[in-house]
Amino acid sequence: MSLLEVSGLEAGYGLVSVLFGLDLDVDAGEVVVILGANGAGKTTTLRALSGMIPSRGSVRFDGVEIRGSRPDRLVRLGIAHVPQGRGTITDLTVAENLLVGGYGRRDDITPDLDHWFEVFPRLAERRTQPAGSMSGGEQQMLAIARAFMCRPRLLLLDEPSLGLAPLVTREVFERVRIAAAEQGTAVLLVEQNANLALAFASRAYVLEAGHIVGSGPSSELAGDESIRRAYLGS
Ligand code: ATP
Repeated sequence: MSLLEVSGLEAGYGLVSVLFGLDLDVDAGEVVVILGANGAGKTTTLRALSGMIPSRGSVRFDGVEIRGSRPDRLVRLGIAHVPQGRGTITDLTVAENLLVGGYGRRDDITPDLDHWFEVFPRLAERRTQPAGSMSGGEQQMLAIARAFMCRPRLLLLDEPSLGLAPLVTREVFERVRIAAAEQGTAVLLVEQNANLALAFASRAYVLEAGHIVGSGPSSELAGDESIRRAYLGS
């Protein structure tokens, strides 16, 4: 049994259908990416999984049906979602954002707080500033650190490269990889930058107009001629 088992997932906005029966799974501790062009339905997939929009089909987490569950229940089960470009509470300070991330944990969260200030020194320097006053890159770092503060078993990560300089993006991906490995967190990433994503994830799904049209180990997809032409710019 996989940690996350999705079958026949359908979702959309009002009368417009966007996802047409997705099947995918993520094992415990595994890093998986959903690749796809603009508008393929990547963000919609994560929104459906995290209960932000209504959906049909089955979403099982650790063997339990969670489709349609409210975000607070998902957090309690161990699922954290970093939405595209807005994973922070902009009015709260950096430190407050991290504390909110750890809210609900019964153990001492101070070591994790110190850990993330060490990982991202820029957050430590700005710990008393409102999150909204920071650059996009810094807010992305904060959103990720905040998500890890709840020690999730599954992290849903939406396009962390959006609006970031390539060097910052690489740093953010590397930090996610290390934290996920240390905590045994599975990651389901959606990303348009296929080169980067395939280097980061061990397995990938390719989403096209709301259908999964390919899947396999990242190394295989990176070598696939049609994938290269469509997503890797070569
Ligand atoms: P991108 O990288 O551009 O975010 P994506 O693969 O994540 O692409 P989605 O954002 O999931 O794609 O969008 C899939 C389709 O759903 C698109 O046709 C988009 O126009 C539509 N869509 C997305 N959000 C909404 C919304 N809030 N209301 C109506 N339609 C939407």
